[in-house]
Amino acid sequence: MRAPVLFIGHGSPMNAIADNEYTRALQDLGRKLARPRAILCVSAHWMTEGTWITHQAQPRTIHDFYGFPKPLFDVRYPAPGDPGLAEEIKARVTDITVNLDDEQWGLDHGAWSVLRHIFPDADVPVLQLSLHMERDERFHYVAGRSLAKLRDLGVLILGSGNIVHNLRLIKWDDAAEPYPWASEFDAWVATKLAARDDAALVHDARSSEAGRLSIPTPEHWYPFLYALGAADPAERAETVYDAMQNASISMRCVGFGL
Ligand code: ZN
Repeated sequence: MRAPVLFIGHGSPMNAIADNEYTRALQDLGRKLARPRAILCVSAHWMTEGTWITHQAQPRTIHDFYGFPKPLFDVRYPAPGDPGLAEEIKARVTDITVNLDDEQWGLDHGAWSVLRHIFPDADVPVLQLSLHMERDERFHYVAGRSLAKLRDLGVLILGSGNIVHNLRLIKWDDAAEPYPWASEFDAWVATKLAARDDAALVHDARSSEAGRLSIPTPEHWYPFLYALGAADPAERAETVYDAMQNASISMRCVGFGL
């Protein structure tokens, strides 16, 4: 059975412990998904030189943020890792060089804040793949494409970032009216995604003012390119959730092969 591909917008870490429309959409999604063999998560929050994969049997929960309330720091997501699978992925994914990480990382909030809603039992092995920050959009899309074959092994590919992510202009109110440029870019992405115009998504996203404001730094955008690459070219994107939070964050979530 071929495992699906997900792109999940994660937004504020507070969504990890919130109960809102978005978290309920993730919980509904989790109830519909067949149990994968493992999850390979590409999170916006693991930025490295080179590409790394977690190789720990029991990855730690990383609280990679400051100034949030204690209940968020108390969250643990005790999913196991799968060192054997990490080695298999390193061997099979040959378009990019994948390095094994035994000490540096674990599970950051890009992974656990969404996984605790989708797979609340934390019983599916989770591995993370890092973002090689010295490479461009094309590299990340091609890297995603080279992950596609893992789906046949039952590995669910999860990109966790945000299509629109501008922290400088954020309003700390979930229900704040989205900026016009944020809505414009989010809609542009939805249109290109519906047409599977991957070339436009990979090469043209930051060619407009709306795109430059939505992607002021690329780390939350790149996980989307991994998901896009890991989907078959003709595979249709199904919308899981599509609202905005905090005026400048798109929480759009999509799945392929659901
Ligand atoms: Zn984030």
